[in-house]
Amino acid sequence: MFRETITHATGDSEGTARESHVLMLLRRALSKGYAMEATRTGGARVRWTRVDLTTHAIVARAISVEPELSLGALDLATRTLLARIDVGDARYEVHPDRYVIAYDDTEITPAETARLRARRLVAVDHAGRVRLTLAARLGLLAHDHRQAGGGNDGFAICSCGFTANGPTGEAVDEVLRNHRQVVTASFVDSISAAYAAALSATR
Ligand SMILES: [Zn+2]
Repeated sequence: MFRETITHATGDSEGTARESHVLMLLRRALSKGYAMEATRTGGARVRWTRVDLTTHAIVARAISVEPELSLGALDLATRTLLARIDVGDARYEVHPDRYVIAYDDTEITPAETARLRARRLVAVDHAGRVRLTLAARLGLLAHDHRQAGGGNDGFAICSCGFTANGPTGEAVDEVLRNHRQVVTASFVDSISAAYAAALSATR
């Protein structure tokens, strides 16, 4: 579950949202061309403006979603495991002496399996198929596009290799932010129908 914060004219309202709702929110934002950005904590922020029909002023709106349970640090070992599971054929196996995630001829250790599940990085469906949660995918995306260098010298580097240039630090930040918004939109656009169906099937 995600915690959802909606910013509107009279303040913020909070609620909870399922994965399938968050995906719908992101897809709607994509179709409307709203700015969206994945967060390293496994959430996302969507921002847009609209014209207030009474005052004719342009007003800012935002929706923020964050996993209720923190993902924790996505260290290299965890990212490697998640990348392997994301290939798509991982399964959850219940043996008399151990519960493990397995793929090909490889088993993740019971401790690692329990850890990935407890942190809600993976979800298991009724048939035992294992998938990454939407929060895990958003967190990995944000991890792949974090600022990795520069800052005040008219340029900055994203950890993916993208370089942002600008006359001021603020302008550079803006270029980086735009870059993160583009990659987040591309990520949402690339989500498969099969993955969306798996989210919907999750209680
Ligand atoms: Zn990047």
